[in-house]
Amino acid sequence: MLSRRKFIRSSTLAGAGLLSGLSLSSLNGCASSNNCIQPVKKHKYILADIHNHLVLNDWIMRTPMAIQSPSLEYLTRKLFDRTDTNLRTAHEAGIDLICATHFNLFDEWLGMPTDPNPLAPVNTLRMIDLLEEEVEGSSANYAKMIRTPEEFENHFKNPFNKNDPDFRIAVLHSLEGGHALGGSLEPLNEFAQRGVVLITIGHFYNKGIATAPNAFPFFPDDNSPRPVQGLSAFGKEVIREMENLGIIVDVTHATPTALDDILRVSTKPLVATHMSARTLGDHAISFQDEHIQEIVQRGGMIGIIFHPYWLSNYINVMDAEQRGSLLEVVRTIRYVVKISNSLKNVCIGSDFGAYIPRLSDINRLCQIEKLRVLLLKEFGSEKTVEDILAKNVIDFIGINWKRNI
Ligand SMILES: [Zn+2]
Repeated sequence: MLSRRKFIRSSTLAGAGLLSGLSLSSLNGCASSNNCIQPVKKHKYILADIHNHLVLNDWIMRTPMAIQSPSLEYLTRKLFDRTDTNLRTAHEAGIDLICATHFNLFDEWLGMPTDPNPLAPVNTLRMIDLLEEEVEGSSANYAKMIRTPEEFENHFKNPFNKNDPDFRIAVLHSLEGGHALGGSLEPLNEFAQRGVVLITIGHFYNKGIATAPNAFPFFPDDNSPRPVQGLSAFGKEVIREMENLGIIVDVTHATPTALDDILRVSTKPLVATHMSARTLGDHAISFQDEHIQEIVQRGGMIGIIFHPYWLSNYINVMDAEQRGSLLEVVRTIRYVVKISNSLKNVCIGSDFGAYIPRLSDINRLCQIEKLRVLLLKEFGSEKTVEDILAKNVIDFIGINWKRNI
């Protein structure tokens, strides 16, 4: 059992590490790749981003801590908020779908790892409300909330003409971190009713569901290093109940031992929404070949993150930000395709908006055309590129999201 003092110390270390890991020169921003790319709306499919923290920053800025400390807001915006998704510009770029991921930092970091915050489900529902307010309010001309598999099927019945005035980005709810359940299975039903399509059951810390690998070397989780620990008894129940309700299980942020356990317990196709491959980026959080292969063999989906540190073996996060590029995303896609022998089970989970370090050549989702150009060079087929960027996700959600409530 982890003491509160130990946990607070590890969280402080994590914060300090993040501060020191990112260059202070980043306060000036990175103007070189700030512009959107001229939209290419002739393509049937542009992008379905299966993991994007669309309103995380808006949520954080509404917390009492941010409201009371304008300097904290300034630092957060300038130092940590390095990637951007804007529904208006994403709409101009013709982006098809965004799975908007809800994650309440405070429920995970400030609660005890094995003592979940009972208010976490309520906070999560407030995040769901916030996204819906934005999509159905100021962004109604650009995006549309999709809350049921029927609405999903209807929306994607025919590929959109992106110049059609009726074209809208499909926005779906997803959750990151099983701490959102507050230690109970009960909230799952309400989440399913609200239209949550998938849940990443683990995250930075082991919250009594699954052991978590370090996401960064300076991001210790003293509760997770024991290699024989994987999924808890409660974690098994979470997976069974999610599958009953038709919510897709996201295995990103699980240790290899937890992944073995999840593969034993689950009966439905799984998704790893925002991952990297251990062979290319040797980090505890990156996935081993056997797990990538097993997920694909069972009809699952592998989403590639736009996170330069995870995708490769740079000295540190700062080095990764300076040198990492979309070529590493392409390299990881190529690798996953090769070891899984499938072009249909790989996609993009950018993790934009999650305070991740940025790639040197993309920091706004509306610049996705840059990746299309590189993928076309790699695969030589428009159809394959459209599958990887969007159609694979649309098909996967269409088949696997059930909402049995
Ligand atoms: Zn994540």
